[in-house]
Order: sequence, then structure tokens, then C-alpha cells
Amino acid sequence: MKHIGVNLWGGADAWVAEEARDLEQLAARARQSQQDRWRRMTPSAKFFSLAAERFQVPKLYGIAPASTFWQIGDWTLAQINSITLEDAPDSSKFLVHLQSLYVVDAARGKGEGKRSLEQIKQLADECGCGVTLFAQSFAFSKDDQLPHAVQSFAELVHASLEAVWPILYLPEWDADCLRFFYSSSGLVNMCLYGSWVYGRPKEEDLPFDRQFAYLPKSMNPAWRSQIEHRLNPALCGFCNR
Ligand SMILES: [Zn+2]
Repeated sequence: MKHIGVNLWGGADAWVAEEARDLEQLAARARQSQQDRWRRMTPSAKFFSLAAERFQVPKLYGIAPASTFWQIGDWTLAQINSITLEDAPDSSKFLVHLQSLYVVDAARGKGEGKRSLEQIKQLADECGCGVTLFAQSFAFSKDDQLPHAVQSFAELVHASLEAVWPILYLPEWDADCLRFFYSSSGLVNMCLYGSWVYGRPKEEDLPFDRQFAYLPKSMNPAWRSQIEHRLNPALCGFCNR
């Protein structure tokens, strides 16, 4: 039997080589248009798009929920939403808000929270997108009084997505731990308030040192300048009302 090599065959029939070249050009154009599309996307859209690729969508009763919950690793459930800050007209394009980050109680103390936060920061770095959050420690409660230790990821999904158990906010010392956790993870304090604070008593404010942002180096400096004044409570009208 005579074996014919690919090159020989391609050389013999010119149209095959042409076809292959066309396909290559087609693929190159597709790659290019994908890159163009990526370039045109806002940092926050990039963030959500990468999150959908890298994180799993937790399922309740086998149905994927339409909200913004993500499973990171085996034990962490994160809720990440869009956010708009007053005085920062483009903020919804370059910021996302980490609404909650919860590690299954039974899996705590092994650095799961830190690892999950690092993955979120990694996305932020790649997209040039900032991440904001309020450092507030909470637990689920079954009786409205005592915190309930969540034993499994399924139980955490049930508690978070069905919202049947009341949420308890935990004491100050927990807040200190959280504050340390976020500041040692490279986050900075940044005011997240808006004019809605004017309509309520000042005692209800979460202190400035419990409001955080991760601002990656890759963030567009022009956008960063829109929120810079919020890094200094002395310059912030909402903090100084
Ligand atoms: Zn402020």
C-alpha cells in the first residue's frame, strides 16, 4: 500500500491548500473579533463574563438560579452584584460589589475564605475592575436568636438562595477579625455611601473602616480618579454630613 503524506497531497491539489488557508484566515478573523469584543467590554462586564467561566453556578433543587451567586471552590458561596456610586458616573462600568462571601462553617479555619477572595481579586486584576464590600459579619439563624453552623454546601445554598432563615449580624469582635482579614488581603477602606445616608440617623452608619474596596493596578486611572476622594473620609461629604 502506498502512503501519501499530508504535505504531498496538499501540494498535489492546490484547492486543498487554498481551503486550508481560507479556514486559517477565518479562524484568525474569529479570534480577532473575539479580542475586539473583549476590548470593547466594560471591566465589570468582563468580570461577570470571566466569573461565569471560572466559578460554578450553585443550583437549588437542580435548577440554576437567575441571581448573582457563585460557588468558588468546594466551600464558598459568593454573591456579586453590580454597583453604582454617586459622583462616579462610570462606576457601574468599573466596579462590582461583593454582597456576601460565606464559607461553610464546617470547612472554616483552613484558608478557604482567603483562597476564594484571592480568586475574586485575580478576576479583578485581569479585568481592571474594582470590587467593593461592607465588612459585616453575619450568620444564618434558625430560631432568630442563635447562629446556626452551616454543615454542607447544599445547606448553605438552601439558606442563602431561599432566604428562609433570618440573618444575624454578629458582634464587634467579629467585625475586627473581618476588618483585619480584608485589609491584610490588600483591600483599602473606601466610602460606599450615597446621598441616601442623609435621610437616616448617623448612628446607623457603618464606620468608614468597615467599608472596603479592592482597586487593582490595572484599573483605568481616569476611572480611578472618579472614586479617589472616597478613599479619604476627610474629603467625603457623606462621611462628614
Ligand atoms: Zn464617605
